[in-house]
Amino acid sequence: MFFDTHCHLDFAVFDADRGPLMQQAKTMGIDKILVPGVQLEDFPNIIQLQQQWPSQIAIALGLHPCFIHNHPEDAITELTHQLNQHSHVCALGEIGLDAREGMAPEAVQVMLLEAQLKLARKMELPVILHVVKAHDRMLSLLRRYALPKGGVVHAFSGSFEHAKQYAKLGFKLGFGGAITYTRAHKQHRLVRELPLEWILIETDAPDMPLEGYQDQPNSPLMVVKVAEEIAELRGLSLQSVAEQTQRNGCELFGIN
Ligand SMILES: [Zn+2]
Repeated sequence: MFFDTHCHLDFAVFDADRGPLMQQAKTMGIDKILVPGVQLEDFPNIIQLQQQWPSQIAIALGLHPCFIHNHPEDAITELTHQLNQHSHVCALGEIGLDAREGMAPEAVQVMLLEAQLKLARKMELPVILHVVKAHDRMLSLLRRYALPKGGVVHAFSGSFEHAKQYAKLGFKLGFGGAITYTRAHKQHRLVRELPLEWILIETDAPDMPLEGYQDQPNSPLMVVKVAEEIAELRGLSLQSVAEQTQRNGCELFGIN
């Protein structure tokens, strides 16, 4: 049984064949897919997905730093309201810091992030983090806010040392399509050497295509290939990787 812990299944690219895709996922043993929110206008669709496939889909709501221009001034108030209304939301996310060129100024991103870390602490929710070129800053914020439920750094791109520091703060590390690239030596070392208990698998579909599939939108079905890659790198059976990573995800997100 596989748990895709990060998939933007609400995005329009899946509109045409979401039903068959969910059916196929089930057939392949992908029995959990976590859909994180990135902006308020998407929340109704995400909530609806969870109502349509309650046993297969888990959801999170949050305000993503790369969509900052879409967040209205009262976005935090509205997010709080939505989180209070929908008790089956299993995490706050996707939130974070992105220091790439062209993103909003750091101070603006930090303000949005801090408001949501406070909220996660108060509501005792784990968080789903998007962190690009900002691990030291993120780690210092996480130390300050000491979240009771921790969270996950999705599509983890930091160092071995960063990974250890996140784990100490109760965080898991999410790995996806990036590990399937032949030249991803740093990622391979992480996946081989980190305790399996720290690892979650994900696709980030429709983004982050796997090697050999760059010409098409990524799909949650690819989570099986991510697990296969981890199994191969660690010399473990596919089943043991699937089971352990699913257990990690279910524990973190409080799913049965
Ligand atoms: Zn994402």
